[in-house]
Amino acid sequence: MLTVNAYGATSATEPLAPLTVERRDLGPHDVLIDIKFAGICHSDIHTARGEWGATNYPVVPGHEIAGVVAEVGSEVTKHAVGDRVGVGCMVDSCRECENCLKGEEQYCLKGNIGTYNAVGKDGQPTQGGYSTHVVVTEDFVLRIPEGLELDVAAPLLCAGVTLFSPLNHWGAGPGKRVAIIGLGGLGHMGVKIAHAMGAEVTVLSQSLKKQEDGLRLGADHYYATSDPDVFTDLAGSFDLIVNTVSATIDLDAYLGLLAVNGTLVEVGAPEKPMTVAAFSLIPNRRSLAGSMIGGIAETQQMLDFCAEHGLGAEIEVIAADKINEAYDRVVASDVRYRFVVDTSTLG
Ligand code: NAP
Ligand code: ZN
Repeated sequence: MLTVNAYGATSATEPLAPLTVERRDLGPHDVLIDIKFAGICHSDIHTARGEWGATNYPVVPGHEIAGVVAEVGSEVTKHAVGDRVGVGCMVDSCRECENCLKGEEQYCLKGNIGTYNAVGKDGQPTQGGYSTHVVVTEDFVLRIPEGLELDVAAPLLCAGVTLFSPLNHWGAGPGKRVAIIGLGGLGHMGVKIAHAMGAEVTVLSQSLKKQEDGLRLGADHYYATSDPDVFTDLAGSFDLIVNTVSATIDLDAYLGLLAVNGTLVEVGAPEKPMTVAAFSLIPNRRSLAGSMIGGIAETQQMLDFCAEHGLGAEIEVIAADKINEAYDRVVASDVRYRFVVDTSTLG
């Protein structure tokens, strides 16, 4: 066992604080990663604050991990000491069910094993990336391609793939009108990736405060949803809308923006349920869908795509003792556009 420094939550109401966690001894297929950076995803906040229920404390969040391989188990073939690697939201799955066999481990019929707040195959709680080291089975470790710095690559492991997967699945590309609701961590990667795929991209943000950034990141259009005219002016005008908002929104209003056969994909995961009127879906044969991260092969495909197109996250690197402040800023939509913890500050 390796005892490592970390930063985590001991209850839903206490601020996160320094603590230590145990990393298992390397099995034959395990990789020990020296974590350099860990992104702060809004899911970390939902979990640390118990907003989704059932958090097992203490919890060390962080599922946007970028680092360097420090040691490999005796039978590891995919990674070598010194390789630049990443870990996202999953650290294992059953690998036998039809979804795992299709490369959609995130939809494992037995439940994928989350990077934190889950139980590993060794029966121990999993703990995430706000720590100095992690041990992960080689098949769930991704290669970070040349040309992507580790700090801007870290957020791709969750925010990047969570947008890449639905954009890919629903065919974002030339001739497709794509809207992204919310310009936060997920949303800004959605703008970059959809633009690189060749789609016409619109940002639907609460205000125009980030308009200049949105256009610089690749959006063709930018609207403030605080202006009710937006919902009449843009009615029926998108083929695909991806909702990244971490809070409940008026889905009926946004469904009205879909063209015939259009789909609204929910990736934001608010604490409270949202309602939808039948008559928001019936006209224009609209669909309402959901999407969860992406499979391991798709995550590698996304990293390669981002490297090829020069896409990293827009980040603000912080020391571990600024995590609580960063959480409050994320909740206040005051993030431009992902906080990334420099794990060398964990001591
Ligand atoms: P984030 O950085 O906080 O971004 C969310 C954005 O939503 C904000 O920047 C803000 O954008 C907008 N927003 C926030 N509160 C709002 C409100 N009350 N009304 C309207 N818009 C609001 O969060 P994130 O890390 O991107 O995560 C977003 C959500 O996705 C979270 O719920 C997270 O748990 C979930 N998530 C899901 C998956 C998945 O696999 N499906 C993966 C990762 C995360 P504007 O200021 O531009 O309006
Ligand atoms: Zn995440």
